Amino acid sequence: MTVLTKPEVIDTIDELRSRLCLAKQNVAAKGGDAHVVLVPTMGALHDGHRALVRRAVAAGDIVVVSIFVNPLQFGVDEDLDTYPRTLETDVAALAEEGADFVFAPHTREMYPDGAASTRLTAGAVGGLYEGAARPGHFDGMLTVVAKLFNIVEPDIAVFGQKDAQQVFLVERMVADLNLRVRIEVVPTVREDNGLALSSRNRNLDEPARTAARSLSVGLTAAAAAAHAGVPAAIVAAHAVIGAAPLVKLDYLVVVHPHTYLPVDDDYRGQARMLVAAVVGSTRLIDNISLDIP
Ligand code: AMP
Repeated sequence: MTVLTKPEVIDTIDELRSRLCLAKQNVAAKGGDAHVVLVPTMGALHDGHRALVRRAVAAGDIVVVSIFVNPLQFGVDEDLDTYPRTLETDVAALAEEGADFVFAPHTREMYPDGAASTRLTAGAVGGLYEGAARPGHFDGMLTVVAKLFNIVEPDIAVFGQKDAQQVFLVERMVADLNLRVRIEVVPTVREDNGLALSSRNRNLDEPARTAARSLSVGLTAAAAAAHAGVPAAIVAAHAVIGAAPLVKLDYLVVVHPHTYLPVDDDYRGQARMLVAAVVGSTRLIDNISLDIP
């Protein structure tokens, strides 16, 4: 008897497509509907990614996790070269979570024509907040996500709320381009002290790690103050984050959940506060839902 070991690690588009085709036939032969779920990642997996994979396993029949550090979404001065790459331990973690396939292509497999390749544009919101700090980032992100959707043809794709603007833009791309995929969003996984898990946290030394907590503490303070209105929430977050050492705030903004444009001071309803800061030398982002009565 052959023992099938999961997940299968695949690095070419052709092989992934043919393996997925077989896997779907296998599920269909057992009389089931084969729902394919995709979890796009850049690897260096932590418990936040694992939560996405668990959601994927619960949501469908065939789970594909992509691991690809997408050069298109990194600026020239950014950390593309030093971004952590830990494929072996990532695959071990994905085996524990029950993923079926790991798609880990080389850059030339995804972009055989290099920088000359076609790109999507994320539009006006793609130039705000993270997009203002990282020009072209969201165009590159949407381009690779669209490619992954076309390669895997998932019924469902799972993303983390941690990257709130990314979720907004992916959901809008799916609507704008009439893509046949359902987006599921998993809440941000945090350390006990509130720090949102991130692959970049491993770059924080001890003082920076302590200082980084101020982002989630500030957001929590904002959510608690939101009953008094938008300005009160912003003041509450600034009071915490502004007092933290080593934290250089980039933006702190309250956005409308449907447009991702900043809300007016007298706005009432659901909103989201987004924050980004460089802590020590590491850029971190976080966000929280605000209920402004
Ligand atoms: P990345 O590998 O950073 O591109 O992230 C891959 C996916 O994992 C994205 O959908 C992220 O939003 C999600 N993710 C990253 N960190 C977390 C976290 N702490 N909690 C939930 N999802 C996360």
